[in-house]
Amino acid sequence: HTDKMAHLINESKAKEIVQNVDNFLFDCDGVLWDGNGVIQGSLDVVLKLKQMGKKVFYVTNNSSSSRQDYVKKCKDYGFPAEQDDIVCTAFIAAQYLHSINFKDKVYLIGKEESIGRELDLVGIRYFGPGPDPLVGDSYKEWLKDIHLDPEVKCVLVGFDAHISFMKIMKAASYLRNPDCLYVATNEDGSLPAKESSICIPGTGCMVLPVTVASERNPILMGKPATNMFDVLQKVHSLDPARCMMTGDRISTDIVFAKKCGIRSLLVLSGISTISDIYHAGQNPPKHEDLQDQPDCYAENLAEFGKYI
Ligand code: PLP
Ligand code: CA
Repeated sequence: HTDKMAHLINESKAKEIVQNVDNFLFDCDGVLWDGNGVIQGSLDVVLKLKQMGKKVFYVTNNSSSSRQDYVKKCKDYGFPAEQDDIVCTAFIAAQYLHSINFKDKVYLIGKEESIGRELDLVGIRYFGPGPDPLVGDSYKEWLKDIHLDPEVKCVLVGFDAHISFMKIMKAASYLRNPDCLYVATNEDGSLPAKESSICIPGTGCMVLPVTVASERNPILMGKPATNMFDVLQKVHSLDPARCMMTGDRISTDIVFAKKCGIRSLLVLSGISTISDIYHAGQNPPKHEDLQDQPDCYAENLAEFGKYI
């Protein structure tokens, strides 16, 4: 155990955080709620922070929902949220393409209702969502089904339960064109599951085949890339010195916080475990190399809340 290692939250640490932090960024799944609903005590903490006059933001890698869906989900659960308080990867991907004045078409591997909706809002054309027809077993059949649209100048990959051989083939073929952008919402390996015996593949499992086939690396929209913070900072004029990110996954949430230069709190109510704290940033574990350590950790958000 060295000084650089994360500290378990305690009263004096929690009080110091409340005194020095005005802007609380929360990862959603695994921190505020999970597949079973609101995580016990997390709503009270958020409401208390709002009462204290703190700003609360929702920062999620989930590309299956638009900001509008998140406003509704937050409201249904009782979390106060306006559209501008939410940054999700579907929104960030659309913002990114809009910011570079993208005028061509997007080949989308992902959900129409979320990513498609956010692209519509900034007037970007796309196609691709939905299941692919079943595909044959021969080279001839694969080629029969592939018609490349010359207007496509971006392949955008998000969560897609209908990922398929033909989608990978089309995406990688578009990416043969060096002028075609390759954008991924996020690369989470798995989704939090209700059953600990079940592993649900995450968006990383849709992105990696395209990366391997195309031999290109995507521009990453979600955590740990800093785009989400950049957008929040710009819209709300945030001072990084007075921000804290709370998350449940070290490789996304905590690395994100470190890259943004903001404080971090890891909660153990989602993906990462106490042993991941000891091994963070180390593969194989090396104790002198602790750059991915959160500042503090707590069993769950309620454990932080009980001190404030
Ligand atoms: N990606 C997908 C497709 C998800 O469904 C989820 C959680 O439901 C996540 C990512 C993780 O979201 P968060 O960043 O809020 O933990
Ligand atoms: Ca999470």
